[in-house]
Amino acid sequence: MDTKTLLEWSERYHVATYLRPPICLVRGEGIRLWDSEGREYLDFTAGIAVVGLGHCHPRVTQAIREAAGTLIHTSNLFHTAPQIHLAKLLCEYSFGDRVFFANSGAEANEAAIKLARKYSRERFSSDRYEIIATRNSFHGRTLATLTATGQEKYQHGFEPLMPGFKHVPYNDLGAVERALDNRTAAVLVEPIQGEGGVIVPADDYLPGLRKLCDEAGALLILDEIQTGMGRTGKLWAYQHSGVEPDVMTLAKALANGVPIGAMIARESVARALTPGSHASTFGGTPFVTTVAIATFTTVLEEHLPENAARMGKYLADRLHRLQSKHSVIREVRGKGLLLGIELSQPAAPVVTGCREAGLLVLTAGDMVLRLAPPLIVDEAACERALTILDSVLGARPA
Ligand SMILES: *Cc1c(COP(=O)(O)O)cnc(C)c1O
Repeated sequence: MDTKTLLEWSERYHVATYLRPPICLVRGEGIRLWDSEGREYLDFTAGIAVVGLGHCHPRVTQAIREAAGTLIHTSNLFHTAPQIHLAKLLCEYSFGDRVFFANSGAEANEAAIKLARKYSRERFSSDRYEIIATRNSFHGRTLATLTATGQEKYQHGFEPLMPGFKHVPYNDLGAVERALDNRTAAVLVEPIQGEGGVIVPADDYLPGLRKLCDEAGALLILDEIQTGMGRTGKLWAYQHSGVEPDVMTLAKALANGVPIGAMIARESVARALTPGSHASTFGGTPFVTTVAIATFTTVLEEHLPENAARMGKYLADRLHRLQSKHSVIREVRGKGLLLGIELSQPAAPVVTGCREAGLLVLTAGDMVLRLAPPLIVDEAACERALTILDSVLGARPA
């Protein structure tokens, strides 16, 4: 099939929810991708922080092959060993005691919201159901998570939204303190706002939220869907802060591209969900949990959080140098391999220029370029990406 026809069919047969460049990707290996015309790309998107181990990592491919030939799906009416092993692994390597498996980030957040409501109703009172979330956040596209998402551009046209959500500015402890009352079930935040522009809060933000939640009897829910699995230079982003949440949600990088979501909670909180109270047909199949175990153990054994910290620092240093050369760069920020480059002009044309020069990068909001390469990235690949970015920024009208 020629590319031109494929792109015409895409235009004709898809619900038009995505704005995509006119290429069709056909193959990936490590940090590289190839399109249907044979062009090669350096992938600094990692499928939006999903393929942490890079494309077609041999251990992931091996796990997929094995699982596909052993057992794909049983439903959650039955126990399967991979699901149990993955739950145990996630608990042993985090603050958590129990795990619920879903299929996406939004579903993991739905589970967290439902857990917070049920826990708070039973523990306190029936009118204690409110979730405090932050402006500019991103938590998913289902109606509840869209309501939690503090960005009107995603909500427009889908009203009425869910009741029971309040928004406060991000990185503002005073605003949370004023918003908390005896109707607050939980505070839901990203440790770093990803889609909202790679916004890193002050060091005292998560500790401050922990304290405010403890005083008010509210749960602290961290959405680590983008920041988890080593992306920020620690296995979980909360580990930079010295405090732990009550509930954490994961998805993106957990099975290196095979769809999965997970909600992890402390024992005392998790107990609120009892048999029949929540469920998912596909959640945590033996197939996906086998792949997630392979992904998770590879992240640990190959010390990828450490590599993310090292390469992230390397990239950030080089980007700061680029900043002194290109006045269009307003700020470089982020942690580990989740980096934002705020520009004084729209980021989309730079993304296009980079792609045409063989480098795939993301935006995060209109004015921010986002770099989220696979965690296996090395200095040579960073240098190639920086060279391309340098030339594309240099070619832009100031
Ligand atoms: C991507 C993302 C989600 C939504 O995940 P989906 O799998 O697309 O539903 C939620 N929260 C954060 C922080 C994300 O980055």
